[in-house]
Amino acid sequence: MKNSEFVDRDLKTVWHPCSQMKDHEFLPMIPIKSGKGVYLQDFEGNRYLDAISSWWVNLFGHSNEYINSKVSEQLETLEHVILAGFTHEGAVRLSERILKIAPQGLSKVFFADNGSSGVEVALKMSFHYHKNRGETRPYFISLKNSYHGETLGALAVGDVELYKDTYSEMLMKTIQVPVPEDQKEESIWEPIQELEVLLEKRSHEISGIILEPLVQCAGSMHMYHWRYLIEVKRVTEKFGIHLIADEVATGFGRTGKMFALNHAEISPDFMILSKGLTGGYLPLSLVLTTDRVYREFYCDYTLQKSFLHSHSYTGNALACSAANATLDIFENENILNSLSEKMKFMKRELEKFQKLPNVKEVRQTGMIGAIELQGYKWEDRIGLEVYKYGLENGVLLRPLGHIVYFMPPLSITIPEMEKMISVAFGGISKLIQ
Ligand SMILES: *Cc1c(COP(=O)(O)O)cnc(C)c1O
Repeated sequence: MKNSEFVDRDLKTVWHPCSQMKDHEFLPMIPIKSGKGVYLQDFEGNRYLDAISSWWVNLFGHSNEYINSKVSEQLETLEHVILAGFTHEGAVRLSERILKIAPQGLSKVFFADNGSSGVEVALKMSFHYHKNRGETRPYFISLKNSYHGETLGALAVGDVELYKDTYSEMLMKTIQVPVPEDQKEESIWEPIQELEVLLEKRSHEISGIILEPLVQCAGSMHMYHWRYLIEVKRVTEKFGIHLIADEVATGFGRTGKMFALNHAEISPDFMILSKGLTGGYLPLSLVLTTDRVYREFYCDYTLQKSFLHSHSYTGNALACSAANATLDIFENENILNSLSEKMKFMKRELEKFQKLPNVKEVRQTGMIGAIELQGYKWEDRIGLEVYKYGLENGVLLRPLGHIVYFMPPLSITIPEMEKMISVAFGGISKLIQ
């Protein structure tokens, strides 16, 4: 089959996410037939190095033999079972293992099935906790430029105009505080001060603060210093509000440690995990919380005090098997140690971009690298040019506006990184001519 036959059928029926469908009058849709390692392959044999881990989910390559075998095994025994009143081995094992590696103090796991629903769970649970204690605290704080997903609650705590503005009238009210403007340690103090001033006045009506630790991924890969997290932790304790860590994108080794919070060695009241959790195989999310929160819901049955949130596919057994297999790989292959050479390589390579006249800044946190371009207008759609250049040269880059970034599977090799980065360099250099 040719790519084009498949694309015709696709465009007649499928409405794609995060897309202006009319773009596909000139922008080729790429139908993928198979994937292996960091490569995706279309119906005509063209290969694309997946530099964005298929939207930040893939950790150990496509069609990973080990994960395949574990999901197949699970398929032979149990595909799914209701998680209310029932349980299964995969969910229990995953909970035990996640709590073992999670920041101290987290001791209970609530299941959901994607990042946004995990965020919704954490927000509702935090609000409900305070309510169970006799306090109504309808507000949440989040950081400027943050992204927490696109269901209405998650969108309401986010702050990326592109996704939020259209729906602003229908969203719950939230409060945004400044995020440190760069990765320098001294940049954290003003934002911390502003947070404290806000809480002095309003902490009684605020349930918690939600943030993406270290990297605001969808927010143009904006990065800040880990010290900020330590200070936020201090402030949340001082004022008695929850700290909700959205590690949906930053979790599972992306920042060079298992979780971004590990850089600051702090524990949140809630931690949300998804994306890399299943190695990029199946939708699943977890919301981890403390005994303190759990106990506030634990009592003789009354409707008001129980947490009745649920999704049909909560704790899906196949997804749990993929997640357990992913944790196996982290353990068996000593993945976190294997990253340091790759992170050093990326750092060296990123410096080369700094010399280009259309590059404003390069930044990196662990295995995430970003190149911010300058001198273009939004309407120039400069990212699209880099995207097209990447595809022509066998690399899937998907710039966020004028930010070209790398978030490859952790299993990428140095030669593969070299290709990924040199194609990005070519695409950005070509814009100058
Ligand atoms: C992707 C993302 C989400 C939303 O996850 P979905 O599975 O896409 O709903 C939430 N928070 C962060 C930080 C993310 O990057």
